[in-house]
Amino acid sequence: MPASPTGPPRLVDVALPLPLRRTFTYAVPEALAARAVPGARVVVPVRGRRVIGFCTGPSDGASLGDTEAKPILDAPDAEPALPPDLLAACRWIADYHVTALGLVCRAALPAALGVASRPDAPGRTARLLVLTDALPSLLERDRVFGRAHQQRALFELVEQLGGTADLATVTAQLGCTPSVVDGLVRRGVARLDTADRPRDPFAAQPPSPAVAVAPTDAQREAVASILALPPGGAALLHGITGSGKTLVYLEVLEQVVRREGRTAIVLVPEIALTPQTVDRFRGRFGDLVAVLHSGLSDGERLDAWRALRAGTKRIAVGARSAVFAPLPDLGAIIVDEEHEASYKQAEAPRYHAREVALIRARETGARCVLGSATPSLESWRNAQLGRLALLSLPARVGGGTLPAVRVVDLRQERRASLPDEVARRQVVSASLEALVRDRLARGEQAMLLLNRRGYAAFVQCAEGHVAACPHCSISLTYHRTPERLVCHYCQHQEPAGKRCPDCDAPMERQRGLGTQQVERLLVERFPTARIARMDVDTTSGKWAHARILERFGRGEIDLLLGTQMIAKGLDFPNVTLVGVIDADVGINLPDFRASERTFQLLSQVAGRAGRGPQSGEVVIQTRTPGHHAVRHAASHDFLGFVAEELAAREDPPYPPSLRLANVVVSGLDEGAVAEFAERVTQWLVRADTRFGLGVTVLGPAPCPIERVKTRYRWHVILKSAQAAPLTRLLGGLVDGVEVPAAGAMRLAVDRDPVALL
Ligand code: ADP
Ligand code: ZN
Repeated sequence: MPASPTGPPRLVDVALPLPLRRTFTYAVPEALAARAVPGARVVVPVRGRRVIGFCTGPSDGASLGDTEAKPILDAPDAEPALPPDLLAACRWIADYHVTALGLVCRAALPAALGVASRPDAPGRTARLLVLTDALPSLLERDRVFGRAHQQRALFELVEQLGGTADLATVTAQLGCTPSVVDGLVRRGVARLDTADRPRDPFAAQPPSPAVAVAPTDAQREAVASILALPPGGAALLHGITGSGKTLVYLEVLEQVVRREGRTAIVLVPEIALTPQTVDRFRGRFGDLVAVLHSGLSDGERLDAWRALRAGTKRIAVGARSAVFAPLPDLGAIIVDEEHEASYKQAEAPRYHAREVALIRARETGARCVLGSATPSLESWRNAQLGRLALLSLPARVGGGTLPAVRVVDLRQERRASLPDEVARRQVVSASLEALVRDRLARGEQAMLLLNRRGYAAFVQCAEGHVAACPHCSISLTYHRTPERLVCHYCQHQEPAGKRCPDCDAPMERQRGLGTQQVERLLVERFPTARIARMDVDTTSGKWAHARILERFGRGEIDLLLGTQMIAKGLDFPNVTLVGVIDADVGINLPDFRASERTFQLLSQVAGRAGRGPQSGEVVIQTRTPGHHAVRHAASHDFLGFVAEELAAREDPPYPPSLRLANVVVSGLDEGAVAEFAERVTQWLVRADTRFGLGVTVLGPAPCPIERVKTRYRWHVILKSAQAAPLTRLLGGLVDGVEVPAAGAMRLAVDRDPVALL
């Protein structure tokens, strides 16, 4: 019997972008029947609003009960926005990270596809541009601005915002008059602009032409092993710094994209910090590449997404979220610097791009390559267990050697120096100073790492009080330009007073060196050197990173001082010296990954030295020369570090020897948070016992940083030998425990956390 056109409507399940883990059933009007397929965006009514949801498949209507299914209002796409492999990856993320499928689907698509109407074009407003290059050194600034303090404050504020800022906003923020702006323009250090948007350097700049280099035998072998992986297979490429991992990726793509005609995804930790890597892909593959960078407007991002979906762009290069690039016929996924913590998303859905890469490879039959000089312990363990093929590039290309590393024990330096010299000696030790002078004399370049921005980590009054953030349980960082105290967690700012707000004693001590202070000391110590600083404060604008790195690459900077930003993948052959001002920043954080992070950072920054024909040297200044992270970084001994660190993570057990989840309860009322955390813990313990899951429940306890952005935070840590019991327990918790409405209470689940702070 033919189906009656007036029969019951077809029903589908729809995942909504709401914090609800269930799906909802809707009816499909005849006209939309062809479009309401799994993975398609659908517009549905939710409490009188039009909401974009995602069709997950046919429904049996069981969840409807007696109510009648509401009809889908629209299905805007001719092809489903999420192809089957992406929908499968989203389902996996939603299950594993215990979050709503609709939220994951939305996160996997460009923002413009998550709203029912198109975003408006940006309006025209006046912007102030400061010409930072006109005043590169602090000394010149002192001279040019003299007593014009307001002009300097405005200049430096805009500089911190990346060199360009909305005129009305910044003048209001500083309370300055138009004459201050005019003054800056007259001096020739700033100009006014009415452009719509910042320039897109990728659209504007052609890539440097690819230099044809023949792969070395080691590179050729790695490429062959990757291409020989079974479909869906994955490899860990452990190649020391300067071993030429990028050429391996390029050769793999040459085969997969050009010869086999398939497509590929290349993930980098941050586009802005890795302009050279991005450039190599563009140089080799030109128009086939779509660079998904944070500077794209919503419209441009959508255009790039469409080009990838249609296969007109065949290689997506981008940070974390590029793992969702909707490429048809995926042949390879590369995760460069796979150990980087930025691959984990800090809020829900808390996916890790590396795990999604492996899942998409499995779904599509693509080959997956995880590359690093300092692989994460998780990937290392997976290679040991045979889940990843282990490939290695043990030598630098062209016979170059890893730089010699000298460890300077700051405790010894301190004893040897005069008391009033102490502070200065500790910043740049005699050994480091001599090497910097040598490089300046020879016209070579140096990079100096200090992983703490601002001027001083905290300020203390004569009575010992430390200025702390009113909203977070951490001290305020002292910034010199412009002068103020800043919370690095919530961005709260206040003027740096001369007297203590607690006891009125004079604020006298600044503790904990920051990059601004080191910059000042370097300017004094090396007055003829051209010095630049690269940290969050000098690079918050979209293209600020690229500008500093371009100048460094052109040899216009002798000393590049920076935070961990300067440690990632940069390749400047004229850098023959790397100095670590203080290796101990972060080494004692109350987090099980503190040592691993320190080892990675030291190894990576050391790897920036001696990449050209001249060999390089590294100086690591530390007060803990015996720490295994410092010792093994100094001897370039990844295996030695891994052996010690893995042993340390056996007792007490931490990943990769088991699976970890951090359940964080937060809210505005301290007592209520503690009470709810206790209730959550009891629920977990009971459920674990009842179902015999064998999960260890630890806590509750206040988080190491007890308060962030006015919210009190408690956590419960779960440890399990296997992943599945954790999935089950956490799913039960999120679905079964009601979060109190009062006090803005929240319950967050962070699986495989990259930090426990
Ligand atoms: P890694 O990412 O492993 O630290 P890169 O991929 O940046 O190393 O390569 C280091 C340097 O060696 C780069 O300047 C690169 O152009 C160069 N290089 C890589 N492979 C070769 C090769 N086969 N022949 C010549 N130069 C190479
Ligand atoms: Zn704060």
